Amino acid sequence: MKLSVATVFATLSSVSAFAPSSMGIRSATQLEARKPFISGNWKLNPQTKEEAVKLAADISATVTDDSPDSDVALFVPYVFIEAAMASAGDSLMIGAEGVCPEIKGAFTGAVSTAMLDSVGVKWALAGHSERRVIFGESDEYINGQCLKLIEQGMNVMLCIGESESEYNQDLAGAVCAVQLKKGLAGISKEDMSRVAIAYEPVWAIGTGKVATPEIAQSVHATCRSILADMYDQETADATRILYGGSVTPESVDDLMKQEDIDGALVGGASLDAEKFGRIINFQV
Ligand code: PEP
Repeated sequence: MKLSVATVFATLSSVSAFAPSSMGIRSATQLEARKPFISGNWKLNPQTKEEAVKLAADISATVTDDSPDSDVALFVPYVFIEAAMASAGDSLMIGAEGVCPEIKGAFTGAVSTAMLDSVGVKWALAGHSERRVIFGESDEYINGQCLKLIEQGMNVMLCIGESESEYNQDLAGAVCAVQLKKGLAGISKEDMSRVAIAYEPVWAIGTGKVATPEIAQSVHATCRSILADMYDQETADATRILYGGSVTPESVDDLMKQEDIDGALVGGASLDAEKFGRIINFQV
């Protein structure tokens, strides 16, 4: 089914990202239902294995018995995955920044789900805006990645989010609806337990312009209502939706207080163990 932004925007009047939502502070029950998930995306960093090993160890050391009961993951370049796993120990999960939707054959430079699985990777990103924009990955390709990861028994963090011009046209909810519907096509309600969503407005990634907690909460609530339409309320309520885009130690606490924000996907600040450690140890 072909879904354009305009079509979805016209037909899903209930998904305006900025419609009034049940804004509020997260309750203890919600915390239990959706375990917080703090994750870092190293992108094309660092430049050496030695630096990767040290950074993973330094970040791992920030997870203590006093830390919030969260899942913590680092998405790292393929070449550092095994070294980072050895260095991080049990307190962090090490994931891949992407995967090829093909399983084997003539795909030079590609890495398959089976290859990742064989070295113990449980999570991979799909749909990051840098992959969509710079590498031209389409919603169909991203859907292929999600399906292959699920088929392999792995987990996927599907990244979605609108551009600045879409945001300015109040199209955030419509863009997220298209990306969710296309990215998750063919994934069953049962398999949604192995999916996390990262809402990352493109205008906030790497720009220092973090979305306000109110804006992020509003789009997250919209995304949850889209998931309820696609699946059901129970599935929507159980799915973790992370916010990504210039999250810092200064912004994390207020973001994590929002009832529909279940975690953070962090780029720049995940390359600094002290900063990322403070994000892992968010306070609500
Ligand atoms: C990201 O790469 O997913 C990201 C959110 O980056 P940053 O935190 O640097 O904006």
